[in-house]
Amino acid sequence: MCSLFLFNTREMKSRIGYQFAKGENGFFNTFSAVNDRPNEWKMYKTSLQEVEEMCVLAEQARLPFQKSTLEERAKLLHTIANQLEQNREELIIIYQMESNLPAKRANQELDRTIYQLQLLATFIGSQRFSDEQSSQLFESNTLKRNWHGIGTIAVFGASNFPFAYSTAGGDTAAALAAGCPVIVKAHPFHAGTSWKVAEIILDVLKKLNFPNGVFSHLLDDGFACGTFLVQHSNIKGVGFTGSINGGKALMHIAQQRKQPIPVFAEMGSLNPVVVFPSALEEIEKWANKYAKSIATDAGQFCTKPGVIFVPNDPKGERFAFSLQQELQKEAPKYFVHPGLYTGFKKLVENHFQWIESPKWQAQPTVRIVSMNEFRTNEGLREEFFGPQALLVYYKDKEELENAIHLLDGQLTFSLIGHEKEDGFENILDLAIDRAGRIVFNDVPTGVKVALEMVHGGSYPASSDSRFTAVGPTSIYRFLRPIVVQY
Ligand code: NAP
Repeated sequence: MCSLFLFNTREMKSRIGYQFAKGENGFFNTFSAVNDRPNEWKMYKTSLQEVEEMCVLAEQARLPFQKSTLEERAKLLHTIANQLEQNREELIIIYQMESNLPAKRANQELDRTIYQLQLLATFIGSQRFSDEQSSQLFESNTLKRNWHGIGTIAVFGASNFPFAYSTAGGDTAAALAAGCPVIVKAHPFHAGTSWKVAEIILDVLKKLNFPNGVFSHLLDDGFACGTFLVQHSNIKGVGFTGSINGGKALMHIAQQRKQPIPVFAEMGSLNPVVVFPSALEEIEKWANKYAKSIATDAGQFCTKPGVIFVPNDPKGERFAFSLQQELQKEAPKYFVHPGLYTGFKKLVENHFQWIESPKWQAQPTVRIVSMNEFRTNEGLREEFFGPQALLVYYKDKEELENAIHLLDGQLTFSLIGHEKEDGFENILDLAIDRAGRIVFNDVPTGVKVALEMVHGGSYPASSDSRFTAVGPTSIYRFLRPIVVQY
């Protein structure tokens, strides 16, 4: 199976629905940091004319797709999930060659992607979902409420999740479940993985007789096609997972349109952690757990703990020492792509000394900064997207609260110690003000795909804190309610 892909398909073109794009705009390659060279397959860039054709075709498919039944869409999601499983071996190989992530992680991420599709399929067939589409008889009227897809969704996936937050990831699964056509702009650093997944989705759509245009796949290594897509009047919403700068840029473009559209952007986060005094009864346990959370897969998680507040006392110092020791035991880790590596290194060098590591890799570490530095240097409150966390000592409750007041919106906020820690009662409220997920006595990395999950938070963690990007209720981003009165 893998040889089929690696030796036969070396020239990958965008898909305008079921047709291949011409690919007359030149090509780019993805990059293998492990081999320190570009991968050999060629990704042919899409022209703006071809993006236009994708948008026209999506609009033609919109109504017929919207009219498909929930059962038909559930079957679509289940079949895509099955086909991802059938192609696992090939997918894992290309994923690893483009992302430099280990096989265990690749498999776990594919499991997650498959499960996400299945969970959404189950959700749209559930009583809970149908209960919301209720009708009620009044004296003179009946009101019948229903959900409709908002229209074609442009999906931009993140580089650090080539499966789960990309081509067949949460945004695509939720949009298809909602009856919305999807145009995916592949992330240029895992464009081959994206291409292969797109081929699987299109194959399933065709076999199940869905109209041409329900799904298109766009290859480009610059901003022009993505910008054009978000500006296009046939696009009615955007699902974005990536950097704060990228999310902000797309939100700005969407707002400038004649008809502004929603951009559901999941962006970066510092994911603050407060270690309460009571947690320091178990110093080694927490140091060990947090070292793993900072170091795993080079800390390239939007939920990686970025700043840890620790009591300024001997036990707090022992925690800092243990955490440092644990992180030193970790081997340097590869970045998913050279752009993220270069950005991380530059940001680190602006504030700290870079720890020498082999090319395209970084040594997991913790940086101890004083509370005064943390308060006065805004740059330290930015996301460092890599295997590094800041540790900041607090001397008392006031100092801790003042520091938290400086923090923007967050995806997660972790509290380690007693749930009602004596003398620190306000901290939970401050955490809830900022974050979508409050974590008690655990690490924030690892987002369970579940009905109850909330993956989002106040800006800039996400563009709209009323919604979650993970779990089946993420579908509501792409639905609008309609009531029929008769
Ligand atoms: P990125 O650089 O923002 O790229 C994401 C996608 O958006 C790419 O396809 C990129 O295209 C496109 N893009 C970015 N800026 C654009 C612009 N101005 N105009 C048009 N398209 C634009 O993000 P990344 O480096 O892949 O991912 C790392 C970041 O994602 C981290 O900050 C991390 O915290 C965040 N993240 C968040 C979550 C979450 O759920 N909140 C999950 C994973 C990652 P090009 O690559 O062609 O530029």
